[in-house]
Amino acid sequence: MFKWQRKSWERWTQAVSNLPHAVLVHGGDGWGEFEFARAVAQSLLCENPKPDRSACGRCAACGWFSQGNHPDFRLVVPESMAAESAEEEGAESGKKKSDQVRIEQVRDLAGFLAVGTHRAGARVILIYPAEAMNPNTQNALLKNLEEPPPGTVFLLVTAQPDRLLPTVRSRCLKFPMAAPDASEALRWLKEQGVEHPEAALAAFGGAPLATLSGAGSERDRLAFIEGLRRPEFDPIALAESVQRVPLWDLVGWLQRWSFDLLLARSSGEVRYHLSQEKSVLEISQRCEPAKVAGYLRTLAQARALARHPLNPKLFVEDLLLQYRRLVGQP
Ligand SMILES: [Zn+2]
Repeated sequence: MFKWQRKSWERWTQAVSNLPHAVLVHGGDGWGEFEFARAVAQSLLCENPKPDRSACGRCAACGWFSQGNHPDFRLVVPESMAAESAEEEGAESGKKKSDQVRIEQVRDLAGFLAVGTHRAGARVILIYPAEAMNPNTQNALLKNLEEPPPGTVFLLVTAQPDRLLPTVRSRCLKFPMAAPDASEALRWLKEQGVEHPEAALAAFGGAPLATLSGAGSERDRLAFIEGLRRPEFDPIALAESVQRVPLWDLVGWLQRWSFDLLLARSSGEVRYHLSQEKSVLEISQRCEPAKVAGYLRTLAQARALARHPLNPKLFVEDLLLQYRRLVGQP
């Protein structure tokens, strides 16, 4: 749990006195609702909770929980998320992992629910993000929500509760999280090395995790633009440096940069890269407008393919080689 979630925790301890079988934990995108729900799950399983009812972090149950093998806990997440946390994207990750919670994952819970608990305490199932269940899967879950064994708690965690079936929602206690505490969120963002945290947090609507990842991608974007500006840039090395950036974003950055080159060439102005205006004007003088327009068409097509390129590395290298020819380098 993050420090900025203190208020949510206090709310939770008030709600928990009469614990229902299913709770819909509803946070905003980037509020850390998953981390909060994990803290809730751990506190329900902890064998020696603190006075504020949070998990002690020291008992046997807490030990198993933090190692991911508490026998009375099930985490249900899409395969793509499970792969992310378990192993780094292996070289042989040939098959695309599903972004959905599959119906089999929900059906498999029947076995877990059929046997008694191992520690004679609560049994907790955390499903995140709950909207990653399609309607069929949600219907399969419904049976479990209707008559779970005593002591069982389902935590459905979502930032988009309206994507759940009304029948599912109506069986859950709604637990809206409190908005993140701004001063704690700012302190945390500073610790993470985010520059100008106040402005960044405001730009991301007060959601600390969204702010952090947004600030990260802004850093990547500026480094990429810096690479494009270098007179002698190496397309292969630049492609290598942006391997972690989603292609969709990367093509968008190239589109805006090229758009500015064309605009600068025709009108002497820039729209997107105000702080790099001088370089844009300079580079635009080396380009033929018709070729920049052609490159923009190529980028528009590339963006349509960016979700499923056959070879992401070649895809980027090719676009950058074309760009280098455009700005008049061999
Ligand atoms: Zn404990």
